[in-house]
Amino acid sequence: MIKNIGFIGLGIMGTPMAGHLLKAGYRVCVYDVAAVQREKLVAQGAIGAGSPKEAAQSAEVIITMLPASAIVEAVVLGENGVLGAMEKGAILIDMSTTSITTTKKIAAAIEKAGLVMLDAPVSGGDVGAIEATLSIMVGGPEAAFQKVLPVLQKMGRNVTHIGGAGSGQVAKACNQVVVAMTIQAVGEALVFAKKNGADPAKIREAMMGGFAQSRVLELHGQRMIEHNFIPGGKVRLHQKDLDIVLEAAKDVGVYMPGTALVSQIWNSLAAMGGLDWDHSAIVRGIELLSQTQL
Ligand code: NAD
Repeated sequence: MIKNIGFIGLGIMGTPMAGHLLKAGYRVCVYDVAAVQREKLVAQGAIGAGSPKEAAQSAEVIITMLPASAIVEAVVLGENGVLGAMEKGAILIDMSTTSITTTKKIAAAIEKAGLVMLDAPVSGGDVGAIEATLSIMVGGPEAAFQKVLPVLQKMGRNVTHIGGAGSGQVAKACNQVVVAMTIQAVGEALVFAKKNGADPAKIREAMMGGFAQSRVLELHGQRMIEHNFIPGGKVRLHQKDLDIVLEAAKDVGVYMPGTALVSQIWNSLAAMGGLDWDHSAIVRGIELLSQTQL
């Protein structure tokens, strides 16, 4: 039975996720480059580590929840990295959203060392992380998935084994395509409503009962109406996700014009200084070019 967990990356997502594991009774050893983030978890009963390697020592499961592929690679395979401390039978679960090629590369290095890695990115945003209702999409060996399932179920509700290494990231990439285009659609619809003299809040309410209903309309539609762009899911992270999708689409040859368009819109938010706004701030670009505000 799993008792000891190492948790690396304690940001908007990692902090509540590690908190759920603590509450469930696991011994959790945490690391983040930002000491202030580590201290928040230590105050809840976690053990603080001074490096990724230290967090991974004597852990049966090591979880990473980091902002970029290159960072995951450095944290796992680099100096003072996780791989240097993983004991026989230990399982690495990368829950960050990373590139499919990097995931496969790290999984191969882990496998070469006789160990196991699962890619297990999530969907559900900060609310899903806080409420432990994340959707978790897992790639890697089935036996390891079964072993860690009780741990994943402490953080999420819909935990699905997709297939082999990298397939969790493929699932998450699909997810981000749909989420990105839905945010764009909701933003356009609400600005259209406003400019046609209708109340965007009433329109959102009406659409919630019909075919256009979605979690994005519910949560991000509300954020747009309130102009509350405190993240949440940062623009820079969703932009990174679409970069991953478009790179993979180029590799295998898939026509994705909608994704490419939203990727360009993220660029306009970058120009507005909005990389750390919530991704629902896409509506700001639509407002600007439509000369109106919700
Ligand atoms: P975040 O920026 O809030 O947190 C990232 C954390 O990683 C920070 O605390 C940072 O200090 C830490 N970090 C950076 N470099 C590090 C290193 N070398 N070693 C240790 N710690 C390091 O990001 P987040 O919103 O928590 O997202 C984390 C991952 O989850 C990303 O891959 C993101 O795409 C994915 N994700 C985010 C959301 C969301 O809504 N926020 C939803 C689903 C998936």
